[in-house]
Amino acid sequence: MTAEPTTSADPMISLRGVGKRYPDGTVAVAGLSLDVPAGELLCLVGPSGCGKTTTMKMINRLVEPTSGQILVAGEDVARTDPVRLRRRIGYVIQQIGLFPHLTVRANVGTVPRMLGWDRARIRARVDAMLDLVGLDPATMGRRYPHELSGGQQQRVGVARALAADPPVLLMDEPFSAIDPIARDRLQAEFLRLQREIRKTVVFVTHDLDEAIRLGDRIAVFRQGGHLEQVDPPTRILGRPATDFVAGFTGSDRALRRLSVTTLRREDLEPPRPGRVEPAGGGQP
Ligand code: ADP
Repeated sequence: MTAEPTTSADPMISLRGVGKRYPDGTVAVAGLSLDVPAGELLCLVGPSGCGKTTTMKMINRLVEPTSGQILVAGEDVARTDPVRLRRRIGYVIQQIGLFPHLTVRANVGTVPRMLGWDRARIRARVDAMLDLVGLDPATMGRRYPHELSGGQQQRVGVARALAADPPVLLMDEPFSAIDPIARDRLQAEFLRLQREIRKTVVFVTHDLDEAIRLGDRIAVFRQGGHLEQVDPPTRILGRPATDFVAGFTGSDRALRRLSVTTLRREDLEPPRPGRVEPAGGGQP
C-alpha cells in the first residue's frame, strides 16, 4: 500500500492508537491517539515515567511501537527506512549529544555531509544556522564543544537539528540541564526562532511553566502514556479537563494564567485628559 497524499489540512504527525510494551512487560504507552498539525509546537508534559520520551522516540523510530500506527507527513513510519526518516526529523536532547572531537562547524554540518551536499553549500548552511541560533560563525564555528557554555552547546544542538531543514523537530528536555537564567534566554530565543521557521515541534518537558511558555498546545500525560488533555495553555490552566490535570497544574494555576494572558489595548488605562504630547512625539 502506498502512502496517501498529504493535503495542508492533514496533520504533520499522527499517532493512531499507539502502544508500547517493553520486553520486561512495562506498558509505557497504551492506545494513544494524537495529531500534531504542521507548524505547531506541541509540549508533552506529565510526571516522570508517564511515557513522554517513549512517545517521542516512537515518532523517529528510536523505539518501535508494539501497536498502532504513526504517520509523519502522511507516511507510515513503520514502512519508512529509519535512516531516511531521521534525516527528515531533527532531534535535540538534554545531553546535547554533540560529537566532542568535532568542531562546532563540523557538528552542525553532520546531516548535510551525510546527504552528500557540496562543501560550499554546507558551509553556507552552517553559517546561516549558527547565525540563526545567535552564535557568530567566525569565532564559534572553530571551537570544540568543551570550549562552549552549556547554553551555547544547546544552541549548537538546535542548529545541528535544523541544518538539513527537516519539517519536524523532536526536542527531549532540551533546556533542562541549563542554569535558570540561560534557560530563560534559550526559551525566549527558541520562541523567536520558531516564529520564523514554523517547524512542527514535539517538545518533551517535565516543567509545566516551560510548556506554558512555549507550547501552542500542551498534551498532559498520566502514567501509562494516557492522554488526559490536549489544549492551548490558557485552556489547560483555565479549564482542566480532569482532576489529574487540575492537580498537575497545581493551586497556583491562577498565577500561571497571568503569564499567558495578553493585555489588550482597551484594558490599559486611558491617557489623562489635558496631557500635552511633547513636540515630535507620536512618531512611528
Ligand atoms: P517519561 O519520559 O515520561 O519520564 P518514559 O517514556 O521514559 O517516561 O518511560 C515510561 C515508562 O516506561 C516508565 O515506567 C519507564 O520505566 C519505562 N521504560 C522506559 N524505557 C524502558 C526500557 N527500555 N525498558 C523497560 N521499560 C522502560
